[in-house]
Amino acid sequence: MKNTVKNLDASVIEAFASSLRGTIIRPIDAGYDEARKVYNGMIDKHPGMLVMCVDVADVMASVNFGRENDLLLAVRGGGHNGGGLGLCDEGLVIDLSGLKFVRVDTSDNTVRVGGGNVWGEVDHATHPFGLAVPAGIISTTGVGGLTLGGGVGHLSRKYGLTIDNLLEADMVLADGSFVTVSKDQNEDLFWAIRGGGGNFGIVTSFKFQAHPVKTVIGGPTLWPIERTEEIMEWYHNFIHDVPDELNGFIATMIIPGAPFPEFLHGNQYCGIVWCYTGSQEEFDKLAKPAMDLDPVFAFVGEMPYPSIQTLFDGLMPPGLQWYWRADFFNELSPAVSAEHLKFGSQIPTPLSQMHLYPISGAASRVGAEDTPWAYRDAKYAGVIVGVSPDAGDADKITEWCKDYWEALHPYSSGGAYSNFLMDEGQERVQASYKHNYERLSKIKGKYDPQNLFSVNQNIKPS
Ligand SMILES: Cc1cc2nc3c(=O)[nH]c(=O)nc-3n(C[C@H](O)[C@H](O)[C@H](O)COP(=O)(O)OP(=O)(O)OC[C@H]3O[C@@H](n4cnc5c(N)ncnc54)[C@H](O)[C@@H]3O)c2cc1C
Repeated sequence: MKNTVKNLDASVIEAFASSLRGTIIRPIDAGYDEARKVYNGMIDKHPGMLVMCVDVADVMASVNFGRENDLLLAVRGGGHNGGGLGLCDEGLVIDLSGLKFVRVDTSDNTVRVGGGNVWGEVDHATHPFGLAVPAGIISTTGVGGLTLGGGVGHLSRKYGLTIDNLLEADMVLADGSFVTVSKDQNEDLFWAIRGGGGNFGIVTSFKFQAHPVKTVIGGPTLWPIERTEEIMEWYHNFIHDVPDELNGFIATMIIPGAPFPEFLHGNQYCGIVWCYTGSQEEFDKLAKPAMDLDPVFAFVGEMPYPSIQTLFDGLMPPGLQWYWRADFFNELSPAVSAEHLKFGSQIPTPLSQMHLYPISGAASRVGAEDTPWAYRDAKYAGVIVGVSPDAGDADKITEWCKDYWEALHPYSSGGAYSNFLMDEGQERVQASYKHNYERLSKIKGKYDPQNLFSVNQNIKPS
């Protein structure tokens, strides 16, 4: 049983607070309820204290304080995690949102980023230099959690996952020490953090390889949900063999409203969201087979890279109710797409949806043991999200999401992308790391034998 902050002596807390440059926020403080919010409005955790760190020294002091007082300790980057793993009840939350900086080095196209940045800040800083780092598809997602879990997005087929572009990281370990990890320093830790999540320490800065991406050809094509089986079969035979420059994830969704034209509103669709790193003419040639399938709506054109990265931000503001389920898949067989048709036709609320992200091109050419991300041979990272602004819809979106997942799970590869899991227990964590779990567990045993960093997709120390 862990100690709690409310059991600590006031003098112990005062001494800790005075050692920081950042501030602490406790339940008695104004702003506590605002500070304990995360992106998913369904999460309602009550930490004993939040430490708003502003530098590495604050992070080291917080780790030492948490360990010495035997507190449950959570680490918050962007706060986007579906299961609310950036927070804990009763214990200490180490908030990294004050650790923000982005420095672009054009001599070798690398980017240094603070442990508390979100991706929109990185895109904004790299874009004037015509550079981009592969990341996810919503700009408010944290660099920390997304990177440490893997990072799937529009550039995955061309440049790999986010972890495939990680060159170096600075970390505070469970014993309070500070290390730099890279392919030449602390290699075991460098391997573990490229997919193994926040299990091994707190990353205070990342160094990424960026790539020349200024504008992309992007946007959605939509077909009525009744055509799901035909479109999915076509897509499965198409997407993995096209040049890496072309990415497209397939989805079932409802078009909720503006900015889409009115005739689409409230209807269910099977859609593909494209992103091509090349010219419009090349895209038109490559994607012609998709346009020949007569989408009811196609809005694909040239845009700055930060625009495709923020395309869906307006639809997905913080504070909505979210319920997640996920798996990897190898096939989009007729039986699988029949389930997508069935559950896609029953989407319960306008923002609920299912996405299948292709794992091919550069993302699939990294060995299954080169990083902890074990499913390099899967064809899709799938995720189903029940979403609503209304807390009264919580049961409805949860039930739909679970039923959809249960129908598909027998066809899955067994595990899920760890960043798409909620708090689902050890069996799911192990299935997600497959053959890499044992190696992760040994590294965890070496660097965090007491499992101080346990509020995550937890790898047990061995
Ligand atoms: C709307 C939305 C869209 C998304 N889209 C994508 C997508 O396109 N591609 C994709 O790959 N994922 C996507 N995700 C999933 C996302 O990668 C995870 O939710 C991820 O955990 C978010 O990271 P965060 O830092 O914002 O989260 P947090 O909740 O702050 O943290 C998540 C976990 O990471 C740990 N952590 C965070 N920062 C650090 C750090 N600096 N050092 C050590 N540990 C840290 C935390 O302790 C926690 O265990 C999306 C999520 C949402 C909500």
